[in-house]
Amino acid sequence: AADSPPAAGTVLLGRYELGGLLGRGASAKVYLARDLLTGRSVAIKSFPNPRAAASATGDRPVAIEREAGILRLLRHRHVVRLHEILATRKKVHFVLDLAGGGELFSLVDASGRMTEDLARHYFRQLVSAVRYCHARGVYHRDIKPENLLLDEAGALMVADFGLGAVATATDGAAEDGSLLRHTMCGTPAYVAPEILSRKGYEPAKVDIWSCGVVLFVLAAGYLPFNDASLVNMYRKIYAGRFRCPAWFSPALRDLLRRVLDPDPSARIDADGIVAHPWFRHGASDEELGRLMH
Ligand code: ADP
Ligand code: MG
Repeated sequence: AADSPPAAGTVLLGRYELGGLLGRGASAKVYLARDLLTGRSVAIKSFPNPRAAASATGDRPVAIEREAGILRLLRHRHVVRLHEILATRKKVHFVLDLAGGGELFSLVDASGRMTEDLARHYFRQLVSAVRYCHARGVYHRDIKPENLLLDEAGALMVADFGLGAVATATDGAAEDGSLLRHTMCGTPAYVAPEILSRKGYEPAKVDIWSCGVVLFVLAAGYLPFNDASLVNMYRKIYAGRFRCPAWFSPALRDLLRRVLDPDPSARIDADGIVAHPWFRHGASDEELGRLMH
């Protein structure tokens, strides 16, 4: 079948020796591989080739091309980098930086939550990546735990621009609807209220909202908006109704109120986050400058 796994040990293009499965998402499987030319480990994200006859279920070619086009625009220490693309008859492979440290949220699972200082450490890296992308007109639109990885040294890497969008000259809202479809059947807990209302949205604000949910989860160990009933969860998201745990500092509470503001026009932006006292706490301008450029 078109989606049968390539055997471990297979060498792609005489250069990349495939190893085990690292993870899978809705659109692709990701394998560990060794670059025989450099000796380095890489990740290979394999899609069923949409041009293969057997792959009626595969992504449309435009979706893969769009993801590749976005990745080619980005070069940042906290964004997974695309090295090259290989196409075989049945597959399209992205050769990516390896995020060998697993998912960011594995750190939360172990202890239930993290200290505010550690949450700030990762949140700074996330915001530096998001701010970089936004400055280049790229919006991720799917910021959530499975897409936030760590490299071998423990630095955060934003992955999976499969739902990403690029600003156009006429940009405003109306997207193609793929985010809506995806989030409705995926994890709605990270979705901004203006997406639920289906009235169109600014993708930058949607990313900021998701970053706020991620920050809350890191520091609290649970979701800000949650309910056994999906409808009730949506109500809480619409209303921006959440409660901070007792141990959150006043500065963190203040920042979260501004990020998880259900009114997108009032919501803080990436520059505002960087200027916020909680974000700057304990760091020199020089340190922050290094992170943010
Ligand atoms: P999809 O677009 O199908 O969601 P992703 O790009 O999110 O695919 O990859 C699926 C999973 O594979 C991720 O959640 C992660 O666990 C793993 N993964 C993705 N990229 C890498 C990478 N560069 N290094 C290590 N693991 C990765
Ligand atoms: Mg994914």
